[in-house]
Amino acid sequence: MSAMANSASSCPSDLADVVIIGAGFSGTIAAIVLARSGYSVSLIDRHKVYPPDFRAEHLDEVQSEGLSRLGLLDGMMAGVPCVDHVACARYGRFLEIKRTRNYGITYASMVNAARRLLPATVNNITGRVVDISTGPEEQRVLLADGRSFHGRLLVLASGLGYALCRRAGIERRILREAHSLTFGFDMMPPEGREFPYPFYVYLGERPQDRIDYLAAFYIGDTMRANLFTYRDYREPWTRQMLDQPAEALLRLLPGLGRTLGPFRVPGAVQVRAMDLYVSEQYRRPGVVLIGDAFQTSCPAAGLGVTRLLTDVERLCTVHVPRWMATPGMGVEKIAAFYDDRVKQESDRHARHTAEYRRAVTTEISLGWNLHRQRVALQRRARVTAARMSGGMQDAMARLVHRPASGQPGAA
Ligand SMILES: Cc1cc2nc3c(=O)[nH]c(=O)nc-3n(C[C@H](O)[C@H](O)[C@H](O)COP(=O)(O)OP(=O)(O)OC[C@H]3O[C@@H](n4cnc5c(N)ncnc54)[C@H](O)[C@@H]3O)c2cc1C
Repeated sequence: MSAMANSASSCPSDLADVVIIGAGFSGTIAAIVLARSGYSVSLIDRHKVYPPDFRAEHLDEVQSEGLSRLGLLDGMMAGVPCVDHVACARYGRFLEIKRTRNYGITYASMVNAARRLLPATVNNITGRVVDISTGPEEQRVLLADGRSFHGRLLVLASGLGYALCRRAGIERRILREAHSLTFGFDMMPPEGREFPYPFYVYLGERPQDRIDYLAAFYIGDTMRANLFTYRDYREPWTRQMLDQPAEALLRLLPGLGRTLGPFRVPGAVQVRAMDLYVSEQYRRPGVVLIGDAFQTSCPAAGLGVTRLLTDVERLCTVHVPRWMATPGMGVEKIAAFYDDRVKQESDRHARHTAEYRRAVTTEISLGWNLHRQRVALQRRARVTAARMSGGMQDAMARLVHRPASGQPGAA
């Protein structure tokens, strides 16, 4: 039996339409969208201000369009510089310039910017949830300090942690442990010099290196790099990457310096391993999972934010309005969200991309070698066509350096 049975409970007038656990990216924007639609929302997170956290550090074009559809882009990205081209390089030379919009911003700044957009009607609660009980009529949430909150619907937006999902009877299946290893660090050019491009992607050179790509982009005035690999924590190269990052990088990506120019890594290197998992036994009355609580996204695939935006858009603009129109929160209502074609395709695409990127980066079979050659040929044909039409020079010329302004609300 749940510990909730013994806890002091609030009176029925405290019943919110929706209780959301987790005010990270997904929970916060879900609360905004629901509150703007007139629902009463209780949003609970253990941190009053989202702390520095190594997560998504830029917002791509698809993601900014998703935020825009939810009416949140301008508010969240106000004052954040946007670049509209990405320079792509490999083997020490430039391959192509892709036209695509990107905002560089730390994860904490993104989440805290979203939190500042929360309508005053949201009951914003700081505290650690230790227990939940769910059912077809009413959901209950117990905090470590003894407070409890009730709602018609419980949204679990609690991220990677598994404890609360387990309390709801939901299981997790690991698809692959330590699927990828991502590094984050700052890069600096020598004094008096600048990096040539505001957003730069350098692709891994050989399958045995197990390096997918390095993305370097400005956050404010600092060039930030995310290096996506399929390596292990315990390898000597990983240790070197933590202790002497510039040397470790140039050892495996010797052409990096030729395209980006000389650089040093001034501060500490952050590193994060990611398991791939999916939820199971999740069709339960009264409770839905969104974002990382439902399924992880490999950082190299860059789809975690895309997935959570899809979850929020479908849940909050399509399903919750239907569910709230009639009494009860039975499993047939909840199932409609998980059966949503748009959500299913978004989750499938993220899983597929995670597997594909790992395989295309590391597999050495004849089939994958041929596939890589085909992809390289297709890229070359694209670039040649762009050069012939003058597009490459045009794109190069329009690469703009970021404005000097900072980003909103550093955490
Ligand atoms: C290194 C790295 C790089 C990444 N890069 C990218 C990228 O480039 N592009 C991309 O799209 N995605 C990327 N991702 C994935 C993306 O960051 C995640 O998919 C996204 O942050 C998930 O957001 P969320 O709201 O689901 O979870 P979170 O942001 O983790 O929010 C969970 C919230 O729940 C709260 N919480 C948890 N348990 C409790 C409790 N018991 N009581 C109260 N509160 C609780 C936490 O405090 C937290 O605020 C990356 C991930 C990593 C790790």
